Amino acid sequence: MVDVVVVGAGVNGLCVASELRQRGLDVEVWARDDSMATVSAVAGAIWFPFLAEPRERVLGWSAVTFQRLATLARRRDCGIAMAPVTATFAEAAPDLWWAPAAGPIERLPAAAVRAPCRSAIRTVVPIVDVPVHLAWLRAHVESQGVRFVPRVLASFAPAFAVARTVVNCAGLGAAALCADASLVPVRGQVVLVERSGDVPAWIDDSGLPPFYAIPRSTDVVLGGTAQRGDADLQPRIADTEAILAGIGERVPQLREVVVRGVKVGLRPYRPTVRVELEPRPEGRLVHDYGHGGSGWTLAWGCAAEVADFVVG
Ligand SMILES: Cc1cc2nc3c(=O)[nH]c(=O)nc-3n(C[C@H](O)[C@H](O)[C@H](O)COP(=O)(O)OP(=O)(O)OC[C@H]3O[C@@H](n4cnc5c(N)ncnc54)[C@H](O)[C@@H]3O)c2cc1C
Repeated sequence: MVDVVVVGAGVNGLCVASELRQRGLDVEVWARDDSMATVSAVAGAIWFPFLAEPRERVLGWSAVTFQRLATLARRRDCGIAMAPVTATFAEAAPDLWWAPAAGPIERLPAAAVRAPCRSAIRTVVPIVDVPVHLAWLRAHVESQGVRFVPRVLASFAPAFAVARTVVNCAGLGAAALCADASLVPVRGQVVLVERSGDVPAWIDDSGLPPFYAIPRSTDVVLGGTAQRGDADLQPRIADTEAILAGIGERVPQLREVVVRGVKVGLRPYRPTVRVELEPRPEGRLVHDYGHGGSGWTLAWGCAAEVADFVVG
């Protein structure tokens, strides 16, 4: 027997496994796809709450995750940097409801704002260089003593056969595992371009689609799209062209770019992120899925709450 089976090896499954192991439990991670082949591997990934509700809980989870990522950023080997980001908004006085979870925020002068946006801020946030950090996190969790098992589940029954506690971090896979019709894909396409020189992190939060530029160690992630209910994993030329044009208009340093690749991921969106304990006759099922566009922004906070359910 095992204390806990965690289903899923994306950012949420890894953080939960790490947190539970830290609290002394024997943990296995069962997953169809290895970490580097998940939606988590496609993300930007910048700390910035987007497409995730409810705000009161998102605020708490994102605050915990901000601090955790900021602490990790002090290490040189794990692919996280604290970096300034400029965010622009449609409103003259945007509702920065997530501000208590972040660091100091500087409001930029009107001259720095380009129409149709009406305001802009600058703040320092964690930016995750996903290829580096996900590999680091996967190895770190393994070094803690967590075992990884390749496994495709059609139900939680096989997991309950070996553990009294199962944590559901299956991302979009939870739709079938839990018959949850409220969980839908929100398609995201990104364009990876060569990084030359100093490139600012930049987010246009004035409405869908979200335009963003996220510099990493060797490239820059340009986005994006947010196509609800669209599960097409094929890159689209029209999306690539719209992203390059949109970013080129907004960030002068990115007008001329060399494209290295295009990726598509499906954000697991739910009207509310589901972090919840569901008692079952065969044991305890703890849900941790439906993080929408904020999985990297919320993962450590959600994992701590999951661990409280399991251990508390
Ligand atoms: C283009 C794009 C940009 C993004 N940018 C950001 C960003 O800047 N900041 C941010 O915070 N978030 C961002 N996100 C969102 C973030 O990537 C997701 O919220 C997050 O990756 C979800 O992680 P997860 O671990 O829940 O799911 P996933 O990463 O999808 O992992 C799910 C795991 O469950 C496994 N699984 C599923 N079904 C089964 C089954 N039946 N049996 C066994 N295993 C199963 C899978 O194999 C996988 O291992 C972005 C997403 C996209 C697509």
